[in-house]
Amino acid sequence: MAECEIITLSLTKEQKEAIEKLFEDNKWELTYQTIEEQKNLQPVPQERVQVCPYCFLSHCVATTNENSPWLGEGQTPSNYNPSVRKGLYRRFWKCISNLGGWDVEQYLRKKERLGEGRPNMVYHQRQVMSECVLKLVRSRYPNPHSVPYLGHKWE
Ligand SMILES: [Zn+2]
Repeated sequence: MAECEIITLSLTKEQKEAIEKLFEDNKWELTYQTIEEQKNLQPVPQERVQVCPYCFLSHCVATTNENSPWLGEGQTPSNYNPSVRKGLYRRFWKCISNLGGWDVEQYLRKKERLGEGRPNMVYHQRQVMSECVLKLVRSRYPNPHSVPYLGHKWE
């Protein structure tokens, strides 16, 4: 047999079968080892996990719930949307609460910095709804074009 070289290939099932067939057709000898890749995976170091700059959660609460059935598909701009949004903020409040997001130090500092009663912030049960949630909910259930978002007064 001719001199052999050992190479490492990362193959899909289909590619592997094609190579096996090629070797079989040529009556070549094929030896291979399967590397259990999972075992070699290093856990992602904590500091490299991307934290959302708005809700301060490592898995942004807005992104995580983007496809939740309760969020719905959204609707066209309407005067009824503020009340829809209000219900959704309540759910997000609960999600963030379950994830401990209202106790995160960065959030507490942000809340302190903002103070209460800012007209453009949305409050629910005395917590400031994060911008990522506002952006998502407002994009799904927008106000009519001429109606500004007035934060806690309307939402
Ligand atoms: Zn977020």
